[in-house]
Amino acid sequence: MKKLKALGFKVTPFLEVAGDIEEVIAICRKWQTKRGTLPYNIDGMVIKVNDFELHRKMGATIKSPRWAIARKFPAEQAISNIVDIILSVGRTGTVTPIAILEPVQLSGSVVSRSTLHNQDEIERKDIRIGDTVIVEKGGEIIPKIVKVVTEKRTGKERKFRMPGNCPVCNSKLLQDEDKVAVRCINKSCPAQVKGSILHFASRSAMNIDGLGYMLVEQLVEKKLVRNFADIYGLKLDVLIDIERMGKKSSENLLNAIEQSKGSGFARFIYALGIRHVGIRAAHILALAFCTMTDLMKASFDDLESLEEIGPVIAESIVQFFKTKENRKLITDLKQAAVKMERVKKSQGKMAFSGKTFVLTGKMENFTREEARECIEMLGGKVTSSVSKKTDFVIAGDDPGSKLDKAMKLGVRVVNEDEFREMVGE
Ligand SMILES: [Zn+2]
Repeated sequence: MKKLKALGFKVTPFLEVAGDIEEVIAICRKWQTKRGTLPYNIDGMVIKVNDFELHRKMGATIKSPRWAIARKFPAEQAISNIVDIILSVGRTGTVTPIAILEPVQLSGSVVSRSTLHNQDEIERKDIRIGDTVIVEKGGEIIPKIVKVVTEKRTGKERKFRMPGNCPVCNSKLLQDEDKVAVRCINKSCPAQVKGSILHFASRSAMNIDGLGYMLVEQLVEKKLVRNFADIYGLKLDVLIDIERMGKKSSENLLNAIEQSKGSGFARFIYALGIRHVGIRAAHILALAFCTMTDLMKASFDDLESLEEIGPVIAESIVQFFKTKENRKLITDLKQAAVKMERVKKSQGKMAFSGKTFVLTGKMENFTREEARECIEMLGGKVTSSVSKKTDFVIAGDDPGSKLDKAMKLGVRVVNEDEFREMVGE
């Protein structure tokens, strides 16, 4: 830590060395009470053994070393009142009841709302508007209502019932088949459109910097954006007219929108917001199917046979592409020149033309065969031994002697992340 500090890294000034475990416990207790004085929130302490010889003796479990642990503080609690219960419509249409609380200080921040999840949860805890409740914030960022202080009831509290219609678009709400949630199934419900656009533009999806909450709100209200494809049709004169959008920020936004077209196949699949398809599933799909056309043609069985893709995800994907509007959306996005295939071609010439690769070690996201396919698809060649003619050695976990040889010969070694970048994922 001292060395890191000397090198210019920011190191916590609250680092302390303890002589024995009793002292460790005392330091933890001290910070548990003093945590509110820190300029940031903490939910626990990291304790490390500072003797390298002991590190070796203690070893590690599969997941983590035994000489470093994170000790979480017990959750803090506070008392507040439920002023109201409002409804929030998410991007998949799920309607969630949210308790509006009298603002209360808890673990270094002010808490003024807490999700109540669904009607069942409200009934189970018998939560009513006007109730005095105990709020808790543990390791998670989101506070929760632990229980109602029933002794404080005056008789003026009101029970809450989920409505039958969407609070935003007034469509009839349907019960979710598998869950206790209720859902608005109107695809053009403004709340869902806003939510899905924000997801599409988010950092881990298409990464459109500048397309934030306030702007999306206005674009959807003014019906300038009704789906993802509309984003790519936005023009400068239209943007400038929007409240708080200057010329400069409008131009920056249009730039970011243009750039997002090349975000890559995996990000694009994730950005579509298909139910149950997260970042990881999107990567698996991008790897298994070279193009959007192939993915759209995939049957339930094709999808379910993929590692880590279960029946729920497979069914969700099939349903998504069965829907006419979604197919039209893909066509429109294609027309807007959004890239939706795996291969990254560089001016007609294949990216890996004439390059020789050697694979060693285990990769997290590719099997050997998949990595080979990727390389060959981009015009490269995979050989089994390292020589001076090798251009790249792709080293995963536990690389073998090939890595040593590559180092000796000065062959460029790349890790899995770098490889994924090279293949355009
Ligand atoms: Zn709705």
